[in-house]
Amino acid sequence: MDTFDTLPLKPALLASIEALGYGAMTPIQAQSLPAMLEGRDVIAQAQTGSGKTAAFGLSLLQSLDPETIRLQALVLCPTRELADQVSKSIRRLAANIPNVKLLTLCGGMPLGPQLASLTHDPHIVVGTPGRVQEHLKRGSLHGGGIKVLVLDEADRMLDMGFREAIDDIAGRIAKHHQTLLFSATYPDDIKAISHRVQRNPLEIVVEAPVEAKPAIEQRFIEVEPARKIDALTQLLGGEGGEHALVFCNMRRDVDTVAQELDQRGFSALALHGDMEQRDRDEVLVRFANRSCNVLVATDVAARGLDIAALPLVVSYDLAHDPETHVHRIGRTGRAGQAGLAIALCTPREKPKADNIEQVLGMPLPWRPLKLSPPKGKTLSLAPMKTLVIDAGRQDKLRPGDILGALTGEAGLKADDIGKIDVFATRAYVAISRSLAMKALERLRAGKIKGRNFRVRALN
Ligand code: AMP
Repeated sequence: MDTFDTLPLKPALLASIEALGYGAMTPIQAQSLPAMLEGRDVIAQAQTGSGKTAAFGLSLLQSLDPETIRLQALVLCPTRELADQVSKSIRRLAANIPNVKLLTLCGGMPLGPQLASLTHDPHIVVGTPGRVQEHLKRGSLHGGGIKVLVLDEADRMLDMGFREAIDDIAGRIAKHHQTLLFSATYPDDIKAISHRVQRNPLEIVVEAPVEAKPAIEQRFIEVEPARKIDALTQLLGGEGGEHALVFCNMRRDVDTVAQELDQRGFSALALHGDMEQRDRDEVLVRFANRSCNVLVATDVAARGLDIAALPLVVSYDLAHDPETHVHRIGRTGRAGQAGLAIALCTPREKPKADNIEQVLGMPLPWRPLKLSPPKGKTLSLAPMKTLVIDAGRQDKLRPGDILGALTGEAGLKADDIGKIDVFATRAYVAISRSLAMKALERLRAGKIKGRNFRVRALN
């Protein structure tokens, strides 16, 4: 087994890896990290879910010097969603290194606030190519001290027309830097860009060995439309229901299904594109910190989701096309863990299911629903509850301050405290459900970092 402690990583990074619960390295990490830590250029064929973000995140953090106030690492991503996700992953890995400043710079966001936050150089920028190029051109971002350039999902960036922007950026940053290129596919234009921006890169293709491929069990279950919600309740009461993602084809069904599940005793939340960004962030935090056990979402809304290894994914409606179906089932069985993907289908949808079978090239079981008699009130509340503190990074609040307040004055044990997410103006902390009210009272009565902030519990 390849463990991270065989690598020459800073103790602070090893501590983060341990806190994240990563045991062995994924194949891409095991193959790329030794070379990357030596400063070599790497081109790797890697999909989402392979652990590539941690691979390049660890590598760039290892060479980072937080005491030098200069931009030292630049990560380019095709979309804002991915950039947000990558930023979050790097922040988690950097949690034990003091004073690391990371900025996310994406197009489609107002330029003013970005310029204001660039009065001092950040150490790391994660962004989309167009906007990063603009800042470099304007002189609001300085590339002269960059040690590591990462091109994440390079094939998608090229598909989206970012070739010139990437070339231009590569020409505007320090001449001697390391370039790490990740791409799911290797078409000629990827080889060409590697040739232009990399020096003697180590090529890595990770073909997951058959036995290590995550086992995803798929099933189609035939159910009349009127019985769908009962069928879903029964499924969620069984295997994997403690952390499940449910897809609906239509936005309005997302709300209805989430409300119905909530009434039936699940901690369920809805996620769709009509929601404000702040509410979406909140829902994602609650799902990831285990204070919501069922997330009901549309395909579009679930796109930026970064949740490892969900045990169960349910299509409340069969996806309209095989590609969407494949995306959905890819949400389970990630990072080498087994998963269950179930699609509820009406009898009329059989041809659509047959088509999916054909595209996937494997027979998938189609079974009629067997509804067991209801077991009385299903009670499947999530194990945690979320408290919100109306203060965040702008108030210089760090996860350690919250942990300190809870374990110190409030007298909780570290085991009762789950994930802590600190945003610019708010912070979320998950607490074991049975102790959440006690924690809330204690936080309200005491102080965090010597100050009184407003704290409340989410339902
Ligand atoms: P990525 O391919 O970067 O999108 O990562 C997929 C997921 O795997 C993320 O949620 C990571 O937190 C998780 N992950 C990354 N490395 C490991 C590891 N060595 N062990 C377990 N999970 C990991």
